[in-house]
Amino acid sequence: KPPKEKRKPESAPPACIHQTVYVPVHRSTEVQEARLRLPILAEEQQVMETINENPIVIVAGETGSGKTTQLPQFLYEAGYAQHKMIGVTEPRRVAAIAMSKRVAHEMNLPESEVSYLIRFEGNVTPATRIKFMTDGVLLKEIETDFLLSKYSVIILDEAHERSVYTDILVGLLSRIVPLRNKRGQPLKLIIMSATLRVTDFTENTRLFKIPPPLLKVEARQFPVTIHFQKRTPDDYVAEAYRKTLKIHNQLPEGGILIFVTGQQEVNQLVRKLRRTFPYHPPAKDVAEVDKVSQEAKEETKDDAAETVEDPKELEFDMKRVIRNIRKSKKKFLAQIALPKINLDDYKLPGDDTEADMHEQEDDADNEREGLEEDQEDDDELGLEGESGMASGQRQPLWVLPLYSLLSSEKQNRIFQPVPEGCRLCVVSTNVAETSLTIPHIKYVVDCGRQKTRLYDKLTGVSAFVVTYTSKASADQRAGRAGRISAGHCYRLYSSAVYNDCFEDFSQPDIQKKPVEDLMLQMRCMGIDRVVHFPFPSPPDQVQLQAAEQRLTVLGALEATKSEKTDLPPAVTRLGQVISRFPVAPRFGKMLALSHQQNLLPYTVCLVAALSVQEVLIETGVQRDEDVAPGANRFHRKRQSWAASGNYQLLGDPMVLLRAVGAAEYAGSQGRLSEFCATNGLRQKAMSEVRKLRVQLTNEINLNVSDVELGVDPELKPPTDAQARFLRQILLAGMGDRVARKVPLADIADKEERRRLKYAYHCADMEEPAFLHVSSVLRQKTPEWVVYQEVYELQNGDSTKMFIRGITAIEPEWLLLYVPLLCNIREVREDPAPRFDEASGKIYCHVDATFGKSSWELPLGEV
Ligand code: ADP
Ligand code: MG
Repeated sequence: KPPKEKRKPESAPPACIHQTVYVPVHRSTEVQEARLRLPILAEEQQVMETINENPIVIVAGETGSGKTTQLPQFLYEAGYAQHKMIGVTEPRRVAAIAMSKRVAHEMNLPESEVSYLIRFEGNVTPATRIKFMTDGVLLKEIETDFLLSKYSVIILDEAHERSVYTDILVGLLSRIVPLRNKRGQPLKLIIMSATLRVTDFTENTRLFKIPPPLLKVEARQFPVTIHFQKRTPDDYVAEAYRKTLKIHNQLPEGGILIFVTGQQEVNQLVRKLRRTFPYHPPAKDVAEVDKVSQEAKEETKDDAAETVEDPKELEFDMKRVIRNIRKSKKKFLAQIALPKINLDDYKLPGDDTEADMHEQEDDADNEREGLEEDQEDDDELGLEGESGMASGQRQPLWVLPLYSLLSSEKQNRIFQPVPEGCRLCVVSTNVAETSLTIPHIKYVVDCGRQKTRLYDKLTGVSAFVVTYTSKASADQRAGRAGRISAGHCYRLYSSAVYNDCFEDFSQPDIQKKPVEDLMLQMRCMGIDRVVHFPFPSPPDQVQLQAAEQRLTVLGALEATKSEKTDLPPAVTRLGQVISRFPVAPRFGKMLALSHQQNLLPYTVCLVAALSVQEVLIETGVQRDEDVAPGANRFHRKRQSWAASGNYQLLGDPMVLLRAVGAAEYAGSQGRLSEFCATNGLRQKAMSEVRKLRVQLTNEINLNVSDVELGVDPELKPPTDAQARFLRQILLAGMGDRVARKVPLADIADKEERRRLKYAYHCADMEEPAFLHVSSVLRQKTPEWVVYQEVYELQNGDSTKMFIRGITAIEPEWLLLYVPLLCNIREVREDPAPRFDEASGKIYCHVDATFGKSSWELPLGEV
């Protein structure tokens, strides 16, 4: 083997000094005056000199200092947009749209020149000079144009959010920039962050050999008084409502900004506040107010369908999609509808109680309470000395919602003047934390929580959960109150909770997500050595290798390495298809395999239900597997959902399939919440499942052209044959989660036999795992199964493992669906090999075993 050639030390990248030319911009006086108040304007010269002289620059500065709106303008004026475009990425779609509109307005340029592009929507034209886009969009562009040859500058905005796409872009651009410089077509990279915590970018020598210069932009910030709550209430929405009433009734002028976690909460609170403080406008404003109250009604209607906030690239607004598809892809129009669920097929016996009206009553109660308490306890705002407003004289409140999925016209209302005599009150998700700066805010009410997508390391299954934010986020939120004068931030949690339960910073997304996902996506982009990729914060190396292993077993990566190069195995065609679905690869594979036998609608339902966590409420069964079946009051019902024939072998996924179908039925009759309550389903999860079904259906119709869902199929319960296919599809996705019943016949001891009645061996694990008591397959205990999840529970001093989400499989399927985990011992001559004309392949019978434990398989064909 010849000695490896020594790498030449790399010389410093050429400075690529940009020759400034002045491109005039004609701004209105009003805009010019507003600009001059922004801190970044004072720094223009220094900022631009640094950028002109360095290929990569980091700009960190307080939110609201003018980074996003002004920097692209500086660059434009210095001639960066003359031959190529200025690209700006945002992790949030809201910001991409709002900022492009704002910059177009400030520069007095049409939207065809300052444009935006988000997934499925945009107004980019050949004339576009400044392009705002989501980070996912730029990543996709790199797939087809690695050198980003259309751009002269890329600004990665909001890098402190550490979204996975922005992180990967930082890594990719750290390599693209020197390449472009080498070719004499310099590309500038500007990384912008709202916090000063940028060491992951500056001190990471794998990323940048020479640390890029860091520019700090100071913003004027008035002091903000922080008020903690004595207790931390669970119902923070109700608490936010109460607090807002108090602020509005007792404190001097100044806008109120309220942070809650999701769209549904935003709408709920906006509705309550508008009801409590109806706005009676002077005559000329009536039309505007009618519009607002009409919209309030519409927003209320939306509520039922929408629960998830900030879906970034993973989800999208149906209305927008449809509008867009109408424009571009007429032929798909007919296929957008979800499959019709045949109502009677899913009607379950004994669920016809009256719909309950409690929710509405609750609302009314709270309002009354809120008002009464208001008069009782005056101290709570902690504002002795400040002159309050007499509670009687109520000023109208101008209440506006803000969240990602809100249309951009409605979002824009936060920047428009507040009707005279009104106080502004914006109810927002964490969109207003750093991406958008709302003018005139003096009071911030912070619930201290956020909705995040958490991934289960074991299953790769993800869920939206509400967690505490970080200290850094809480401080950002508080900072929003100090922009015009001294402000106040009311935290709806105690200082103890802040100290003990809040992390200093949120962990970068890339370290929270399962890496299979990411690995496949990057490999599809042509990044072969993911292990060597310069991540700002790399995921665990061991996990990367394990992910490669799992992807190989799934068939997404070639099983054999190419012999000539030492590159890792290539992505297969199946892998390419899998990577297009916004779910874990194992679920993507299930979708990719289901285009036969009209199985797709079922697989879509199943994958959606499996991807959303805790669809079923479990009561009293999690502690031990020995709790008798029936202890769970929903258990028997579920048993009956999966009772007959092949359905029974489909097992626990059949329960989910029925749940989705039956919930759809109940929903169509306006009885969803009652249905969920009587059947132990989480209503929120059910609406998430529905959203994901819509999304997957669209994804299939739009992107995977050779797989079509067909026009409006009806979702009858699967036939026996289909149920059998579904079991095979589940096996294909869960090939690394096969378990086999512990053979009881060999065990002489009676006591031991009883103990091991529900015991299974999981492939590759020593200890047996027990069939979870919630499984509908407990009575049958089939010999071979696949499971969705295995987990461990502490039981006194010992631990015990459980498997759940069980489906029965046939061992002869393993050779076909999980060939890589099968070991072939002998190829039989008898029965004789068979030539299959359709595939042109020869099939032989083989003796084989499965997995490391070498489980004997029945004679099968390969
Ligand atoms: P940064 O990126 O540093 O957080 P921005 O550039 O987003 O700051 O914001 C600068 C200023 O521009 C803020 O004061 C904000 O209120 C204002 N602004 C942004 N968009 C609009 C808009 N559509 N209408 C009026 N003012 C706006
Ligand atoms: Mg910004």
